Amino acid sequence: MLNIDHISFSYGNKQVLKDITFDVAPGEIVAIVGANGAGKTTLLRILSFVLMQDAGNVVLDGVDPLQLPVKYRKWIGYLSERCPLYEEMTVEQFLRYRLRLKGERALRERRRLTVALELCDLEDVKKSEIKLLSQGFKKRIGLADAVMLHPRLILLDDPLASLDIGHRKQIGTALTSLSAHSAVILAGHEISEMLDWCTRFIVLKDGEIEAFYRTGEFDRAELKHILTSAVSARDEEGEL
Ligand code: ADP
Repeated sequence: MLNIDHISFSYGNKQVLKDITFDVAPGEIVAIVGANGAGKTTLLRILSFVLMQDAGNVVLDGVDPLQLPVKYRKWIGYLSERCPLYEEMTVEQFLRYRLRLKGERALRERRRLTVALELCDLEDVKKSEIKLLSQGFKKRIGLADAVMLHPRLILLDDPLASLDIGHRKQIGTALTSLSAHSAVILAGHEISEMLDWCTRFIVLKDGEIEAFYRTGEFDRAELKHILTSAVSARDEEGEL
């Protein structure tokens, strides 16, 4: 479904991604893990077509974003790390606005909104101005925005950050149900929680893929140890 083929990217003369190649199938929830600076955000930005790679191809169900950018953008849902929102709007106003911007038909608007609010546990705050809500709520509003139109590919940069444990679990359950129809790729550091519902882990180190792990093929405790070390490697080396 998604083919990522030999992607490389540099900021100036600093190479940040080197020859990244992997495929993602429908039903998969793929976690990109690695120390800070490994290149996770840059990879997600390329997949969401915010940045353009220097070399290599991305193809989603036969569509290359360089050839058909509008179609590609319609097929993806992206939650960026900083999750920009219009804070003076209420949650409901913002999500309705985003639905219209994405071209959803007025007839379907209410249904889309109801499902997204329920999925992300936002019904109780739908009339609240976004600026009055905590970071955890804001993250869930960004997530609702990313998944509202059931995109083929859901890209989430650090979706679990600033969420409490209950909401992390809830997001995991929501993503598992969404993955029936969409592929999901996310970056995150919360290994214990992600092990419960991610189907595959890709370890990035200094812009290169260091390893792939399918969750079902490893003992959970062993995998947790490997992945936790990968995420914290650089911090321990004092390079941050
Ligand atoms: P991660 O998400 O794994 O923390 P990033 O993709 O944010 O990693 O960053 C990868 C590397 O690219 C880091 O060394 C970072 O300093 C560098 N980088 C990120 N954004 C920029 C930018 N706008 N300009 C120059 N270098 C950048």
